[in-house]
Amino acid sequence: MCEKRGGALRDAEGRTVGYLRLSVTDRCTFRCVYCMPEGGVPLMGHGDVCSFEELTAIVEALAAHGVRKVRLTGGEPLVRRGIVDLVRMLRAVPGVEELALTTNAVLLAPLADELAQAGLDRVNISLNSLDADRYRAITRGGRLEDALDGIRAAHAAGLTPLKLNCVLLGGVNDDEIPRMAAIARDHAVDVRFIELMPIGEAAALPRERFIPASRVLEAVPELSPAPAEGEVEPSAGSCGSASAEGVAELYTAPGWKGRVGLIRPMSHRFCAGCTRLRLTADGGLKPCLHSADEVPLRGLSGRALEQEIERALALKPAHHDMDGGRPSQSARPMNRIGG
Ligand code: SAM
Ligand code: SF4
Repeated sequence: MCEKRGGALRDAEGRTVGYLRLSVTDRCTFRCVYCMPEGGVPLMGHGDVCSFEELTAIVEALAAHGVRKVRLTGGEPLVRRGIVDLVRMLRAVPGVEELALTTNAVLLAPLADELAQAGLDRVNISLNSLDADRYRAITRGGRLEDALDGIRAAHAAGLTPLKLNCVLLGGVNDDEIPRMAAIARDHAVDVRFIELMPIGEAAALPRERFIPASRVLEAVPELSPAPAEGEVEPSAGSCGSASAEGVAELYTAPGWKGRVGLIRPMSHRFCAGCTRLRLTADGGLKPCLHSADEVPLRGLSGRALEQEIERALALKPAHHDMDGGRPSQSARPMNRIGG
């Protein structure tokens, strides 16, 4: 069950919907080892993918139900032709207050200014290694220098505050934790370490790849909870727990310009506070990243569209069920959802 209060939808757990992750394509420049198989996957046909007009109409309906923040994702969102036009269209949707994008950044450098001018507020960039050979191995072919160019261009275009996302892969990149964290020492960015989730390709990875994000605090012991926004010191009574921004727990150290974030879907599941919905490029509304439920919205409008949005929210589970090594129940791999 869900109910509507003051325009915002509230589910049976009392959670409102505020945040939409909008996948604009399942295609990607890379084949990251934890996301896509080396040989690729069957891709959506062009006719299966929603047009910009269809996506915008769905976002309008979701904004009327309380969505305030939209994040474009993929696959790799920058491979979708005309992405700057979509940014401009979504920027004009009443109610959408924040428009962001998650990218591997290899195509970002030539697009950053245009995206910013079209109304994109900021970007999150995936960066899983600072070693060029390792970066190529993890992404199966990506060039680290292209991603670094993208990061510089995002900064120059004002797509800030920048967040760099590093998926922790035990035995692959965990030795780089201090070096990655040091980016936040030297620059005003958030470096966020994400626990690997057993979804799609990743579900078949060996056990030792799945490590808790607490390893970051062991590897960088000078980190302590970052003050909450607007505070100079961590909040009194925080008992050593970090301030949070969205799903990230935030840490910093004296003299550091930026912060380190821990995103712990596995060891500290944050489902109780989840305000997210996900829309796939072919118009499926997913109430939870890890459940098999999906409500097709393509072709709907008016009251029928509203009803299906409400049905999707009513399907939002109280929490995911990946404890004890159980894989995600999602019927779609990550490149078809967008994270
Ligand atoms: N291509 C873009 C990128 O890589 O940033 C956007 C799409 S990608 C699917 C979105 C995010 O999901 C990335 O930060 C990626 O590293 C993360 N991701 C993919 N598979 C994951 C998994 N099994 N566990 C945790 N994070 C994952
Ligand atoms: Fe592509 Fe992002 Fe998946 Fe890597 S994580 S294969 S960059 S969609």
